[in-house]
Amino acid sequence: MTREDFSEIGHTGGKVTFTIVCDEDGHVRYQIGYSHSAPRPASLVGIYAHPDGFACGNIVMGGIGDRWSPPPFPNCIAVMMASDSQGKFGHECSSCKKHFRSENIPSRFPLTCPYCGLRRDSYYFLTPPQKSYISHYIEKLHTAIYEAEPGSTREVVIDMDVLADSITEEPRPDFYYTSIAQQTEFRCSACNSYNDIRGRYGYCSSCGWRNSAELQRVALEKIRERLVSGELSPSDVVKQSVSEFDSAARDYVDQLITHVPMKVSRKNQLERLLFHNLDKFEELLANCFDIDLLHGMSADRAFVKKMFFRRHVYEHDGGVATQRYVEESGDVVLAKGDLIRETADNAHKLIGCLNRMISTFESDFQELYKPDAFCIEIEKERRKRVGKRNA
Ligand SMILES: [Zn+2]
Ligand SMILES: [Zn+2]
Repeated sequence: MTREDFSEIGHTGGKVTFTIVCDEDGHVRYQIGYSHSAPRPASLVGIYAHPDGFACGNIVMGGIGDRWSPPPFPNCIAVMMASDSQGKFGHECSSCKKHFRSENIPSRFPLTCPYCGLRRDSYYFLTPPQKSYISHYIEKLHTAIYEAEPGSTREVVIDMDVLADSITEEPRPDFYYTSIAQQTEFRCSACNSYNDIRGRYGYCSSCGWRNSAELQRVALEKIRERLVSGELSPSDVVKQSVSEFDSAARDYVDQLITHVPMKVSRKNQLERLLFHNLDKFEELLANCFDIDLLHGMSADRAFVKKMFFRRHVYEHDGGVATQRYVEESGDVVLAKGDLIRETADNAHKLIGCLNRMISTFESDFQELYKPDAFCIEIEKERRKRVGKRNA
């Protein structure tokens, strides 16, 4: 199913019910309930709100019968928040202001902004309409408590179903929060969490693992399939594979420039870095960040270098060996003016090499930018269980 970038995803609906009980002496007690009956996916989270109407903590709800985590202040109110109609939640980064979606407003681990990498408790990532919902909720509850008559029991409902089901063109109240579909949906290769982000590359919002290497591996696998089926020629495979590597490696370098303090001269050097010259970028990454891109690949070094030169020739010289190619690529077979006849074996081998290189970049990068272990540990346990079951 194709979806439109930045289209609105409606709220899942549901009803929040405040049951207000006022005894004969005017003492008020209240209970909060939530019900959901629409045939839409839904998940529910709890946020602690300050009596003044702003979010101030996440609620760890645990399982049925478990006690909730204590509020950060006395008199905090538990606010029930339901997902969008796909069971996901929209978030907005308080630093870069960009929107993203995940499966949760997590309470047991922080969120990481996919774009700028900010990592904080998830209630700091509420969107403006979610914040309006929280203040509306608190106001509605306060009014109901204030208006309670001695000796009465009353129910007050926030009905999100009515709003979710309405198809009017009328502006909806500002507390009706929705989320916005982004451009790339992916499951994190480290923790398996769902993410929906703008652009292509980003951090997993649950653990902070960057998706660039995984996207390359997936793209190269597809390229390999098209090579096998004969849909792509070996020289096109070389072009497309190196271009995938280029953009993934460029993404890691951009993140390093953002997150690692460095002098302007070094920053300029890195910004100008071109990936078609293996010697240069290998040296620069080793000197700047101690990243050894060809770690354990000394036997393949000459091959990778040659293929990077070939990519340039396929891209810009119509596949005809240039003087520069003959002098610098290390290819001793071809003379200037020869047509390069690319082989499928070379294309397969190159895909393997590029995947090894980007995996080294990935693990070295994540050593500098540490992911949050919580979801990764859970995923490791899950994989172990699945592995045992299938053994
Ligand atoms: Zn951000
Ligand atoms: Zn993750």
